[in-house]
Amino acid sequence: MALVTGANKGIGLEIARQLGQAGVHVIMAARDAEHGATAVETVRSDALSVSGVQLDTTDESSIAAAATAISDEHGRLDILVNNAGIADWRDGPPSTASLDAVRAQLETNFVGTLAVTQAMLPLLRRSPAGRIVNLASILGSLAANGDPTSPVSAASAIGYNASKAAVNLLTIQLAAELADTSIVVNSVSPGFVQTDLTGGKGNVTPAEGAALPVKYALLGGDAMSGGFVGAAGPLPW
Ligand code: NAP
Repeated sequence: MALVTGANKGIGLEIARQLGQAGVHVIMAARDAEHGATAVETVRSDALSVSGVQLDTTDESSIAAAATAISDEHGRLDILVNNAGIADWRDGPPSTASLDAVRAQLETNFVGTLAVTQAMLPLLRRSPAGRIVNLASILGSLAANGDPTSPVSAASAIGYNASKAAVNLLTIQLAAELADTSIVVNSVSPGFVQTDLTGGKGNVTPAEGAALPVKYALLGGDAMSGGFVGAAGPLPW
């Protein structure tokens, strides 16, 4: 039983499809119920087991309602993929970035991820092996931002990068907090993926970008926790 946020398009839709192909029932969350229903039909037409739920990561009542619905219908969650996220093009370097854009990205990408995680943890604790995957980004790496030779240091977007650095901090702290449980939590960076978020730019298709989060959602027993990984392996915090 998996919950994928922002599953109506982009990487999230492909994560849902690939988890479904692995035999997992996937609850596809979307903030827009109509867009969510269309995505559910698309994936279900491949004979995969999926259902939909409305969930806006910035709306605590929608998160609580989704948690109640999942609890009532399924009783537990085995996998949570915190995929929903935004990039606000009014963002920019610290001297000029729109504060509204910074707030919106922190709210959706970080606070939203934290809120969904808090609401779903009781359901994950009922799983024999809970898996939490946070969609992070190399743009949230403090080490890469601080390395003048890294292309990341040129992509100066204070709001987006801060939101993903905060997601990584969540991964570190939550993994430590859950160390004596069977729940593991990891951050994954999917690469530069051709989605609406990047304006279609990138060198990785959404299906290719989904492969890593799916791998970490399906980690077996004795799985690593508190990691930050990209397709080529561990990434610097
Ligand atoms: P995308 O195609 O724009 O999809 C983003 C998804 O998040 C959409 O389903 C969107 O719903 C949803 N969403 C946005 N705000 C939401 C909210 N408040 N509540 C619930 N859902 C919300 O982008 P993507 O590239 O697939 O991005 C998926 C994740 O990967 C994001 O966390 C992103 O930061 C991360 N990521 C992407 C890249 C990349 O190169 N694309 C690289 C690193 C990390 P709507 O359709 O309603 O807008």
